[in-house]
Amino acid sequence: MLEKKKTEIAEKLHGKAKSEKNELAEKLLYKPKNGFDRLSAAEEKAMNAYCEDYKKFLDHGKTERLCVDYCVELAKKKGFQAYTAGMKLAAGDKVYYDNRGKGIMLAVIGSESLANGINIGAAHTDSPRLDLKPRPLYEESELAYFKTHHYGGVRKYQWVTIPLALHGVVTLADGRTIPVHIGEEEKEPQFIINDLLPHLGREQGKKPLNEAIPSESLNILIGSRPCGGENDKDRFKLGVLKILNEKYGITEEDFISAELEAVPAGTARDTGFDRSFISAYGHDDRVCAYAELAGIFDAKKPKKTAVCIFADKEEIGSEGVSGMISEAFEWFVGDLCKGQGVDLRDCFAHSFCVSADVTAAYDPNFADVYDVKNSAFINYGVGLCKYTGSGGKGGASDASAEVVGKLRKLLNDNKVFWQMAELGKTDAGGGGTVAKYMAKRNIDTIDAGVPVLSMHAPRETVAKIDCYMTYKMMKAVFEQA
Ligand code: MN
Ligand code: MN
Repeated sequence: MLEKKKTEIAEKLHGKAKSEKNELAEKLLYKPKNGFDRLSAAEEKAMNAYCEDYKKFLDHGKTERLCVDYCVELAKKKGFQAYTAGMKLAAGDKVYYDNRGKGIMLAVIGSESLANGINIGAAHTDSPRLDLKPRPLYEESELAYFKTHHYGGVRKYQWVTIPLALHGVVTLADGRTIPVHIGEEEKEPQFIINDLLPHLGREQGKKPLNEAIPSESLNILIGSRPCGGENDKDRFKLGVLKILNEKYGITEEDFISAELEAVPAGTARDTGFDRSFISAYGHDDRVCAYAELAGIFDAKKPKKTAVCIFADKEEIGSEGVSGMISEAFEWFVGDLCKGQGVDLRDCFAHSFCVSADVTAAYDPNFADVYDVKNSAFINYGVGLCKYTGSGGKGGASDASAEVVGKLRKLLNDNKVFWQMAELGKTDAGGGGTVAKYMAKRNIDTIDAGVPVLSMHAPRETVAKIDCYMTYKMMKAVFEQA
C-alpha cells in the first residue's frame, strides 16, 4: 500500500517537472509549424479563392508585357487611373504608371505626407525564357528554324522537347508595332526544340549537364513546307515568311526590330492529389508580383502611400530602362513628391521596401545543396531572406536586424505564416534580387517571397499556402503605419 502511494507521489512530481519543462520549451524554443497545422477553414477557403485568381494572372501574363497589360486591366477595374505628370492627387486616390509596356508602378495615396516615407513592394515580372535572335530565321536540310538567345539563368537541357508558344511584338518598317501571340490556344500550332534520340546519344550522355545542350543548339523548329519549286533557293525560309507576311505583314528585316519570346506553352495547373501546389511557367516572380497587386488592391485606407513596382530585366541584372536600376522609379515617386512639395530624398529616407522575390524551397531530392537548418520549406509560409548573394554574402543587400525585426513583428501581429531562409548552402551557388537597388536609394529593404521548387525551370512549383501568406504579408506591409 505504502509502496503504491510512494509511486503515485513520484509520478505526480515527475509530471509537474515535465509540464514545467514543456512550458519552458514552448516559451524559449523556436519551432516553426507546417501551415496545414495552423490554417483555419475560413483561411483555407480564402486561400483557394486567391489561388484561382493567381492562376488567371499567370495564364494572362506569360511575358512581362502581358503582365503589364493584365495589371492595367485589373487596376482599372479597381478604380486606378493612368498617372500623368503633375496630376493633382488626394488621399485615397489610386494611380498606375505604365513604363513602356514592360514595367508598371501603382500607388494608393496615403493620408500622411510623402515626407514620412512610403511602403513599397518591389517584384519583377520578367522570367527566364528564349528570346529570338535579331536575325533568327534560317533553313537547314530543308527544315526552317528560329535561332534563340536565352534570357536569364536557364538549364538548357530543360527547354528541349517541350511545347513552346511565341509572344511579343514586332515593329514594322512603317513604324507600326504589332503584337504576336501564337501557341497557347488549342487550335493554334506550337513550336519545339528537338533533342537527340537515346539510341544515338551515347556521347552526348557522357557530357556534363550544362554542356550536353549548348546554347547555339536551342533552335526552334518552325516549318518544313517549301514555297516554290525544287530549284528555288531559300524556299523553306520563304514558306514560313509567306505565312508570317499574310498574318502579320512581317518581312525578314522586321525581325531586327522585334521582341519575340519563346515560352513554355500551357496554363497554370493545380498539382498533387490534394491540389496543394500550383505548377506553372513564370512563378519567379509573378507569384510575388500578384501578391503585391492583390495586396495593394485590398489594403484598407493606407496612412502612408503604398507603391508597387513590377520591374522588368531582373533576370539579367535589373539593367535597362524598364529594370529596377532605371530612374523610372525616381521619375514616378519624384513626381508624386513634387505634387506635395516634398523632396524625393526625404521620402526615400523614411520609406520601407519589401523586395518580394521567390526563394528556393527545400527539395529532399537534392538535399545536399541545402542547409536544412536554414532552408525555406513548402507550406511554412512566406520566406524571409536577410541576405541573398553568393559566397560570403557577395553582392547582397543584407537587411539590418532592425529591418528584419520590423517585418517579423508585422507578420506575427498579422498572423502571417513566415519562415527565415537562405537560398542554399553557403558555397553551393547564389542569386540576387532587386533589394540592393532599392537599398541604394537609401530605402530600408528586405527580401521576402514564395519558396519555389524547380526555380527557373519551364514549369516551377509552389505551395498555395505560401502564395496566400505572401499576399497577406504584402497587404499588411501596405497597411502598416
Ligand atoms: Mn526572381
Ligand atoms: Mn529568377
